[in-house]
Amino acid sequence: MTDTIPLDSSWIAANPPPVHGIGTTKNSRGRVLAIGGSAMVPGALRLTGEAALRVGAGKLQMATIESAAIGLGLLVPEAGVLALPQDDVGEIDGAAGPLLEKSLNSCDTLVVGPGMGSADAAEALLRLILTQPCDEVTLVVDAMAIGSARGQREALAAFDGRMVFTPHHGEMAMLTGIEEDAIAQSPDKIARDVAAQYGAVVVLKGSDTVIAAPDGTTLHYGGGGTGLATGGSGDVLAGAIGGLLSRGASPIIAAGWGVWLHGQSGRRVATTRGPIGFLARDVPAEFPRLLPQ
Ligand code: AMP
Ligand code: MG
Repeated sequence: MTDTIPLDSSWIAANPPPVHGIGTTKNSRGRVLAIGGSAMVPGALRLTGEAALRVGAGKLQMATIESAAIGLGLLVPEAGVLALPQDDVGEIDGAAGPLLEKSLNSCDTLVVGPGMGSADAAEALLRLILTQPCDEVTLVVDAMAIGSARGQREALAAFDGRMVFTPHHGEMAMLTGIEEDAIAQSPDKIARDVAAQYGAVVVLKGSDTVIAAPDGTTLHYGGGGTGLATGGSGDVLAGAIGGLLSRGASPIIAAGWGVWLHGQSGRRVATTRGPIGFLARDVPAEFPRLLPQ
């Protein structure tokens, strides 16, 4: 019998992320490297990066196409940026390898995918990441990078137990080849199957979000409110989960807390701005007050 658990205040209280008290340094709270963006969606990493910092990650670097890098850095002055070569349709070029190597080897957590628009570019990027040792690194695979994980399951085994996938139903369909209708019929089973196959915690997003761990543990969260169904919302979630991983939370705690913080913060923003029409960028500022100190 597999556990199905509501992701509620009891779970949250019983499964706290690590607390960093007096004497903490920015390095001890973790270094996040977020890679993504494209000419079509150049600002996505602003959302991901800010979310990572707002859950308390110590340091942030954002790696994106060279034409967006300076603008992104000015939007998030707390972060470092890495300008990567871009191809002729404005996606990160597979030739980005040598530039990325140093950053890949000096981060604690990698968030890959937000804002990318091409499956081929995402696949080349994931392939490149998987050539690096990254022995201790935790990984969040989001957005366009999720479908590209399908052909790289063996290489991804290097991240077994250190990964979180954050698909919405369309991305889950790309990852599994299962129709979206069928995913909607059996979200728990499909999330659990993928979690077991990849050794990843799977966050299958929607109005009811399912979080499944490789051991079959399954959480449900349906509390966020419809205002979260807005552009950039998932980019924020991926950053929150990445930031929590960088602080040393396990994948299931980072995923559970990330989903809960995202949802509860959405509710808080809704009370001040109204239930629909707030922006994804409004959400991360609510995180610090909801985190254990
Ligand atoms: P994405 O599609 O990647 O931008 O992710 C959308 C985010 O918004 C996910 O965290 C979803 O769980 C959340 N979301 C989408 N629709 C709803 C809804 N109707 N109610 C609450 N949360 C939602
Ligand atoms: Mg998304």
